[in-house]
Amino acid sequence: MNNNSIFIPKKIIGEIILHSLENDPNESCGVLQGSGGIVSKFHSLKNIHENPQNRYTIDPVELLNAENNSDNDGEEIIGIFHSHTHTQAYLSETDVKSALTSGYLSQFYIIVSLVEKTRPVLRAYRIGEEGDINEVIVDFDGPKYISR
Ligand SMILES: [Zn+2]
Repeated sequence: MNNNSIFIPKKIIGEIILHSLENDPNESCGVLQGSGGIVSKFHSLKNIHENPQNRYTIDPVELLNAENNSDNDGEEIIGIFHSHTHTQAYLSETDVKSALTSGYLSQFYIIVSLVEKTRPVLRAYRIGEEGDINEVIVDFDGPKYISR
């Protein structure tokens, strides 16, 4: 897998942003299915955290279903997504801690910021075993219209 970029088709970027806006002001979450750094499907999953405006916890049953779906398609979960409804599209300290705790470190972490509702910002990162954060390039089809 190319660790420095993730390809997300524009149609799926649209689905992620729509899901984020629909749950605003709560954070939304989901996972991206695919292989080799190329996303094929977005699974929008329920945020079951008791304080969903500032935190997220992916519904574990829905996560398992998404993992099974990916398996059935011969793919895997390559990205973990959540939105920030009132902060920028950077990983928070909590995000990094929960990634380290959960052990999901081979996945890309995708964040949509809704600070400017009319101009959502999507960024992607990888988290290293030491909790180090590396931003990765988001590639997509068509004109490069997403602001960074
Ligand atoms: Zn976060």
